[in-house]
Amino acid sequence: MPQVQKKATSTKSKLQKSVAKVAKNVARNVKSVANGVSKKVNKTVKKEKAKVSAALAKLAVGKVPAALKPAKRTYFFGSGKAEGSKEMKNLLGGKGANLAEMTNIGIPVPPGFTITTDVCNEFYQAGRRLPKGLEEDLRTSIAKMEKLVGLKFGDTKNPLLVSVRSGARASMPGMMDTILNLGLNDETAAGLAAASGNERFAYDSYRRFVAMYGDVVLGMKPERKEDHDPFEVLLHKKKEAEGVKNDSDLSAEALKELVHEFKAEIKKRIGADFPTNPYDQLKGAIMAVFNSWENDRANAYRKLNGIPVEWGTAVNVQAMVFGNKGDDSATGVCFTRDPASGENFFYGEFLINAQGEDVVAGIRTPQKIVELQKTFPNAYKELLDIRRKLEKHYRDMQDIEFTIEASKLYMLQCRSGKRTGFASVRIAVEMVEEKLISRDEALRRVEPEALNQLLRPVFDPPAKVAADKERRILAKGLPAGPGAATGKVVFFAEDAESWAARGETVILCRHETSPEDIRGMDASIGFLTAFGGMTSHAALVARQMGKVSIVGCEAVSFDYHARKMTVETSRPGTADAGGGAVVFNEGDWISLDGFTGEVIQGRVETTPSEIIRVLIEKNLAPAQAPVYQRYARLLEWADKVRRLRVRANADQPDQAAASVAFGAEGIGLCRTEHMFFGEGKIGPMREMIVAENEHDRRLALAKLLPLQREDFAGIFRAMKGRPVTIRTLDPPLHEFLPHDEAGVRDLATATGKPIAEIKERIEGLKESNPMLGHRGCRLGISYPEITEMQARAIFEAACDLADNKEPVFPEIMIPLVGIKRELDLQADLVRKTADAVFAERKRKVPYLVGTMIEIPRAAITAAKIAETAEFFSFGTNDLTQMTFGLSRDDVPRVLADYIRQDIYDVDPFVSIDREGVGALMKMAVAGGRSTKPKLKLGICGEHGGEPGSVMFCHEIGLDYVSCSPYRLPIARLAAAQAALKAS
Ligand code: PEP
Ligand code: MG
Repeated sequence: MPQVQKKATSTKSKLQKSVAKVAKNVARNVKSVANGVSKKVNKTVKKEKAKVSAALAKLAVGKVPAALKPAKRTYFFGSGKAEGSKEMKNLLGGKGANLAEMTNIGIPVPPGFTITTDVCNEFYQAGRRLPKGLEEDLRTSIAKMEKLVGLKFGDTKNPLLVSVRSGARASMPGMMDTILNLGLNDETAAGLAAASGNERFAYDSYRRFVAMYGDVVLGMKPERKEDHDPFEVLLHKKKEAEGVKNDSDLSAEALKELVHEFKAEIKKRIGADFPTNPYDQLKGAIMAVFNSWENDRANAYRKLNGIPVEWGTAVNVQAMVFGNKGDDSATGVCFTRDPASGENFFYGEFLINAQGEDVVAGIRTPQKIVELQKTFPNAYKELLDIRRKLEKHYRDMQDIEFTIEASKLYMLQCRSGKRTGFASVRIAVEMVEEKLISRDEALRRVEPEALNQLLRPVFDPPAKVAADKERRILAKGLPAGPGAATGKVVFFAEDAESWAARGETVILCRHETSPEDIRGMDASIGFLTAFGGMTSHAALVARQMGKVSIVGCEAVSFDYHARKMTVETSRPGTADAGGGAVVFNEGDWISLDGFTGEVIQGRVETTPSEIIRVLIEKNLAPAQAPVYQRYARLLEWADKVRRLRVRANADQPDQAAASVAFGAEGIGLCRTEHMFFGEGKIGPMREMIVAENEHDRRLALAKLLPLQREDFAGIFRAMKGRPVTIRTLDPPLHEFLPHDEAGVRDLATATGKPIAEIKERIEGLKESNPMLGHRGCRLGISYPEITEMQARAIFEAACDLADNKEPVFPEIMIPLVGIKRELDLQADLVRKTADAVFAERKRKVPYLVGTMIEIPRAAITAAKIAETAEFFSFGTNDLTQMTFGLSRDDVPRVLADYIRQDIYDVDPFVSIDREGVGALMKMAVAGGRSTKPKLKLGICGEHGGEPGSVMFCHEIGLDYVSCSPYRLPIARLAAAQAALKAS
């Protein structure tokens, strides 16, 4: 559904829901009040109704029901009681729902309130204006907070300060905006200094607030990509002038001056004064958070993660607690288990005398959470209790934020923690062992795509040892994203995008990353940053995107203008590569070991993952491979649950063997044309193509026959009796012909024909549109002897195995059928050939003849085609191409524009277009099974290994999906999830 229409429909249903709710209230009121009052009610209702009418008319989606009153816009939490709960994520966003939940289960949370995601939609519908009446709600909620904490918002003696944070339904780390310490102006800051007896703290909070507000609400961003943040520049100058290293070493006086300098910079840049009224500040901050829902980076993130725009974000306004109040205060971020490996140990970092954003932004390198017990033994103990309580309550690994103010612990956030694929599998499997979750739950928890990471390469050990000996291991940072990556250095996210677009493998290297870099990060295979801890932006994004990442590598420094990076190799804790520094220019090769945090100069060969070593290379025993063991367990559970069978697209015996190792229950597509490019086959194939008559063609085919037979036997053997779908020749013949002079010469020699004649033949075979030309069954119809040779090779190979008592089950598949007669002719040929071979060999083997459904006409006439076909396999690559009328090879030309303009949600060649291609598939399923109720149905287009498409295949009742061997684990898990969803 187009985005605008989707938005309108969802708005319509929301409006209708709220209208229905009000109608109920009004009905109740009418019963109990006198006539006069109910008239008044009616008047209000009429007014509201008119407003909704106007809104709906604007959206052009339908009529308005009876009555309306605005829905509840704010939900309060504080002092052990909350109006919301964890079930209300859609309305309160993840953060709001969990703050409410933590409050309800007795965890210390500073009081506050959540403005709902519906208000965000109201804001956009009103042309980015806050709805009328919201200010009243804000004042009421702030009054409640004031009562609970005993402070007043805007008070010049002892002011209440608040934080304003975004919080969407799905976590979008760092994509939207946050403002802390709101409520400060010159008077309230003086009051805060006096009341706290800590002037430094008051002005530290004030300068943070002005900078954050200036950035987020007033739009004070760096002017060019090479520039630094304007407030950072002033802060840096101030530290230099004062001769201090850390922000926390600046004096109260210096911070006070900084506030003035910040405000002067704002005035200079935007020509307006910094707002002083706390309610104006609050409204500005709320609007900024709503606006950030549609900023560039949030839009990009939503696209990457399939989050609909109409979900909106909630806004959380919460009483500030201060981790920057002095050395008895701190702030930190933790994960209840290790988010990189999944190990069950408390994992986190904290900073003394700092505010939350310092940890995430990586301004100072934080301390490990165990260190907390030395400085804050009571808070540490309480934190451990909360860790246990939260894991038990949520039954999942949590990502938590805390602040310690004057030795007292407060929780500011908890949410399901982002994790690597490794951690995802380990946590799910171990939580089942700990009886925290069921097996089904474990299966639901792991994103099928996450399994990809477990199959990722690591550095080839000898290559790594060699790199070490050659003193190429230059430095060590924090290993934030596992895996091994080797690529070219780029310094800017935009460059990462453009280099990747032209086919380069890049590693993004920066001081630190920020949410603006999201697209460039997606285009890179890994990131290296100089600053930040394991919870910094680069680290979080790496784990989420499954990228290799090293953060906080202090040996690295940058000169962005010169596009150079320097790695100091003689620093403590790093390998000494001869002392001094190594300079990397843009485009130089670098390698990152995301398991150890090592930064390596140049390229390093990679080697397969533990799972590949156990399953494919068979050079590692399962008992020595814990990652493999957990992977195998999870997939064993998946296999018990799924209904869909899984097959592989494989054309060679080694691929078939790999497929079995990854759990294939058959081969769903053997593209025979791929075999002709193998050793010794292309020559006779070319002779066959240039043959001028059937006799010559048969001579060439006779040379191909034994070669094909051998290939098929190898595949049958590897599959040990599992069904093997072999497709007859598909692509246009000229694809096999030589394109260079040497090839033409060879062919001329082999056939004894003049070079000119060969060239003429090649020219003659060229087609205007080969995708829609002489390919698929059309070849077999023009040259039946090709199909006949292939069928003979298949049946002779099958008989060879059967002679050896090896089980075998071929399924011969005819491609690109659009008309029943095409299949009739080809199927007849196959069956006649089978009969001939069986008669010669005096034995029979079971087999089927079926077709691909990859032309819309075949889907539409499936009932007829099924009279001949014994199975269907959806070729969704071609079916998508022909349904969209868009060449599968040329789709990249339009894709970016189409996704940007919301014409496609995703590339239809990646995930099935349910509305169009899906409708044709359903039609074919119904048609086929109306003729043969038990008709075997599968899919062998690339969609067969994509989780969303696997879900669809389950829903429409296919028997199996077939995909590339390395995507089989993903397909198995996705099929299990589909079955669980349906049950
Ligand atoms: C298809 O069209 O989906 C298919 C599997 O065939 P091919 O990709 O070989 O055209
Ligand atoms: Mg096809």
